[in-house]
Amino acid sequence: MKKWNLVIDCALCHDCNNCFLADKDEFVGNDFFPYSGAQPWTGHRWLNIHRKERGRYPIVQVCYLPEPCMHCDDPPCMKKAPEGAVFKRGDGLVIIDPVKAKGHPELVDFCPYGAIWWNEEAQVAQKCTGCAHLIDEGWTETRCSQVCPTGAIKLHMASDIEMAGIAASEGLEPYKPELGTRPRVLYKNLYKWHKIFVAASVGYKDVDECAEGALLSVSRKGVKEGEAAANNYGEVLLDKLEPGVEYEVTIAAAGYKPYVTVVRPDESLNIGLVLLEKA
Ligand code: SF4
Ligand code: SF4
Repeated sequence: MKKWNLVIDCALCHDCNNCFLADKDEFVGNDFFPYSGAQPWTGHRWLNIHRKERGRYPIVQVCYLPEPCMHCDDPPCMKKAPEGAVFKRGDGLVIIDPVKAKGHPELVDFCPYGAIWWNEEAQVAQKCTGCAHLIDEGWTETRCSQVCPTGAIKLHMASDIEMAGIAASEGLEPYKPELGTRPRVLYKNLYKWHKIFVAASVGYKDVDECAEGALLSVSRKGVKEGEAAANNYGEVLLDKLEPGVEYEVTIAAAGYKPYVTVVRPDESLNIGLVLLEKA
């Protein structure tokens, strides 16, 4: 059976908020029973875009993480909800029943992702429905995937076996897997969110030039984790490192004394300007 899966690429999202606004356009003021009552004008973020800065000037990156309901296959919201107030469709979508869930604000606390919102006026808990009403009409996109200008959000209607193959070939992973909820929303390039980089600006002291090609290598307990070469501005960055781990960082270029330092960064680290001296 084809099921609903959403893939979000952190490397492609640039925080334009088109997806957020499309969600508002679809659900604010519109009832889609039996899947949702109207979303209120303010206060809800059914597609919540999180933002994180990495590094320090002048080597800074920003990562965006759009987060809808994960439509988990093992959803705590459904397990803890009163009988029938939350249900799962055959295609994987998890739905809060807009009638049975009335008067149950505690539902908001049952989602470990914070994806459930309380509608004070309607006295009902609400969240992303995965555009279930559109999927029922044969849509092959959600509103958010349809409007994303960079292709950062993609809907896959696929069997679980097909999706496992896509996940393996594209290196997809769940957000916060430690929650154990088996999300149907998977992320690409999620390392930008939960891993860190070490970077530097490298130059040659004797000639006052950028050290293009200088190699920054990172080792952990004597084992090399990776290396990267400086660009023509002398900037070098090695990504996908673990936060809170002790690393030995070496910056080297032929004919120059290597620069060596030991770091234990909790966040992405820009070492700053490193001027290599003649050997
Ligand atoms: S529409 Fe696409 S690029 Fe824009 S914020 Fe949403 S996911 Fe990011
Ligand atoms: S993300 Fe939260 S609201 Fe959505 S299915 Fe999982 S537990 Fe339920």
